Amino acid sequence: SEPTDTDDTSGATLRTPIVAVLGHVDHGKTSLLDEIRGSAVTEGESGAITQHIGATAVPLDVISEIAGELVDPTDFDLPGLLFIDTPGHHSFSTLRSRGGALADIAILVVDVNDGFQPQTLEAVDILSRTQTPFIVAANKIDTTPGWNPNPHTPAQQTIDAQTDRVERDLNENLYELIGDLSDNGFSADMYWRVQDFQNNIGVVPVSAETGEGIPDLLTVMMGLSQRYMKEEMAVDVGGPAAGTVLEVTDTQGFGKTVDAIIYDGTIRSDDRIVVGGVEGPIVTEVRALLRPRPLEEIRTEGQFEQVDSVAAADGIKIAAPDLDDAMAGAPIRVVGDRDVDEVVEEVQAELADIAVETQEE
Ligand code: GDP
Repeated sequence: SEPTDTDDTSGATLRTPIVAVLGHVDHGKTSLLDEIRGSAVTEGESGAITQHIGATAVPLDVISEIAGELVDPTDFDLPGLLFIDTPGHHSFSTLRSRGGALADIAILVVDVNDGFQPQTLEAVDILSRTQTPFIVAANKIDTTPGWNPNPHTPAQQTIDAQTDRVERDLNENLYELIGDLSDNGFSADMYWRVQDFQNNIGVVPVSAETGEGIPDLLTVMMGLSQRYMKEEMAVDVGGPAAGTVLEVTDTQGFGKTVDAIIYDGTIRSDDRIVVGGVEGPIVTEVRALLRPRPLEEIRTEGQFEQVDSVAAADGIKIAAPDLDDAMAGAPIRVVGDRDVDEVVEEVQAELADIAVETQEE
């Protein structure tokens, strides 16, 4: 894949919005992520989908391929969407960035037959508490009795192609779901009727099994980000990186490493960094930035390739000495030309916040 040298970047650039998937157990979070990843791999030209750590990047041109006529790529200047691979509200709550949620936007998955369930309510509470914009994926539309699947087509197209009876049954479920949302204080409607996504939740009928409605889902996410998050996505890509540790792992040949999502700036393979640890901030130096290789190259080239730098937003494995105590959910910062004590203090303050939140929950 392409080397990621970004040394000439300075000033504001629009980064990829980070997307989380939440919902009740068995409503289809994992399947939905798999379906999006699968479509992205099919539609992406070889090499267009780079392998990532802990997150899947779907670039705008791939979204545009999947969405077909729904998306005109010239309408967007955000580079695509970055999906956090671990779904569920536990990971949503523990993965934070500077005092807020790491995810910029969310997909709330609801089984259209099952409607709101306890964990749906919990997810909705968390999303409103963190003021995270979200859309609802009304999943499993293909299980409506008598459904005739039209794989990978937009929702309205496949719904129009069903018999009246099937369409009526689906609509009944969809309106019940809209009612559930309304009972919980959210004004919601089918996404194609929503004008103002800031005050209304769009509901997108989908099937993670057949890919029906996935074009719409990606289009709506893209539109929502473009419309309401463009300012937040303007980051100084050339500046020192800020990120969040997803996981602390053992990596052969590198000892303890951290998998992280970088949400601001750039991290380079020789940067000094501060990482949140069990005993407080750890000051260390990057030894290598590692990205998984495509499956077909692993046998000859090894499991990871080293890259020179990684810019927000992206997932990356970081090898460095002294990471044994590093903590999942903790902040990670590149020191850059700042005073190291200042950065240590910043990380310390965030660690204190995390500790308080954990006690409250
Ligand atoms: P999670 O617990 O929310 O991650 O749910 P999963 O993705 O594991 O899905 C739970 C079950 O529902 C699995 O057996 C999936 O195959 C199935 N499932 C998920 N989405 C769909 C869908 O759109 N249609 C159908 N027919 N089955 C689905």
